[in-house]
Amino acid sequence: MTFSSINPYNQRKLKTYRTDSLATIERKLKQADRAFADWSALSLRDRTNFLRSVGTYLQVHKQRYGELITAEMGKTLAEAISEVEKCAATCQFYADHAEAFLADQPIESDAAHSYVTYQPLGAVLAIMPWNFPFWQAMRFAIPGLIAGNVGLLKHAPNVSGCALAIEEVFREAGLPDGVFQTLLVDVPMVETLLKDRRVKAVTLTGSGRAGASVAAIAGSQIKKSVLELGGSDALIVLADADLEKAATIAVKSRMQNAGQSCIAAKRFIVEKAAKNQFTELVLHNIQKIRQGDPMDSATTMGPMARLDLADTIERQCRETVAKGARLLTNTIIRSGCNVEPILLDKVKPGMAAFDEETFGPLAVLIDAKDEADAIRLANQSDFGLGAAVWTQDAEKAEQLARQIQAGSVFVNGLMRSDARVPFGGIKTSGFGRELSEAGIREFVNVKTIWVE
Ligand code: NAP
Repeated sequence: MTFSSINPYNQRKLKTYRTDSLATIERKLKQADRAFADWSALSLRDRTNFLRSVGTYLQVHKQRYGELITAEMGKTLAEAISEVEKCAATCQFYADHAEAFLADQPIESDAAHSYVTYQPLGAVLAIMPWNFPFWQAMRFAIPGLIAGNVGLLKHAPNVSGCALAIEEVFREAGLPDGVFQTLLVDVPMVETLLKDRRVKAVTLTGSGRAGASVAAIAGSQIKKSVLELGGSDALIVLADADLEKAATIAVKSRMQNAGQSCIAAKRFIVEKAAKNQFTELVLHNIQKIRQGDPMDSATTMGPMARLDLADTIERQCRETVAKGARLLTNTIIRSGCNVEPILLDKVKPGMAAFDEETFGPLAVLIDAKDEADAIRLANQSDFGLGAAVWTQDAEKAEQLARQIQAGSVFVNGLMRSDARVPFGGIKTSGFGRELSEAGIREFVNVKTIWVE
């Protein structure tokens, strides 16, 4: 079997990759198992130093890897380079903090001496999506490896070049063989891998459908899973908000990466008194976007990553309009994966753009009567990844943030992942956390030692 990577901007085939044979998969599993024994026996400081080298290597080669990301999935080159830089910075962050995050923790008890120690689990399978092809994989791998685990990556087939490049990064940065390996495998092979005794746990970033399947298989094997799934983040704008800033950030949040971000602001919920002015400002910001060739530095939004994804956003948009929403950007302009940004008004529950996750350059405006109505609408979603609240009343903002059903809420700022704070969701957005201390503690044995 083969995987192809196709440049989404012009539909030209970039490369074809042969998937791993059963013999290759067996060799990689054996190697992972062997590597774990030596890697986990290293001191934390030694592993940390290896990951510092990974950060340096990424920083030095960010242009080359950025170009590969752009070619395979279409984000602008500036976005792609900053994705690689974020991976490098996260290496540095964990290298600086891992010792504190994983230090033994003394616990007062009836014992003469009792404490908790954090020990790695073994080989962790990482199933990753194409939208941030370096970041999603690295976000797991950096803390996971520092903690002493080894990584096996099953990436989305359309970014197979990135998948192999990530393996190359670890190899070229000097990590021992087998500590991080990429598997070119399709979905049916995931079940076989999860049932293999050498694979101890799994992390998946992707759709709810994939998450449910992977968690069910992992559950049947009593193996730990972390799920980072979809989102339909609300961005609430109250009447007293700084509307210019709110509109600028709302459009940036929604349209970056051509709208293909789990934590994008997908539903703008606006209090009545601010609605007209906010709408005008959003439209103005959308009209400034230049959709086009992602390699061109004048382009601010590239194509969507695959034709099927562009089909889905077009369908969601048409269905929402058919149910009564108003198209404020005149018409849907699409050529292949190239989709011009779209703005819909009067979106309500029961419409596709409200109920489903929209993974493309589609912004929607939803009317809220007041604050309470805004919170009700924000929570009227199966998802619970992130949210934002815009108001100049800081005290009120924090009260409202506590009422929103989401893994994180940003007040007057851009929703984003940041290595210093936990990232993850509730409801159908998944479970478990990545990044920060919480992330490095996901794939460890929290072992109690009790000495009488
Ligand atoms: P997807 O179809 O679920 O694919 C993601 C990965 O899962 C791919 O490697 C895919 O492989 C694999 N996969 C799919 N079905 C599977 C199954 N039944 N068993 C095992 N693996 C399976 O996701 P997508 O639609 O391409 O990606 C976008 C989704 O990811 C959105 O919902 C987005 O919100 C979510 N996401 C979440 C986060 C987060 O941090 N919460 C971050 C980024 C993206 P194949 O491609 O071979 O099917």
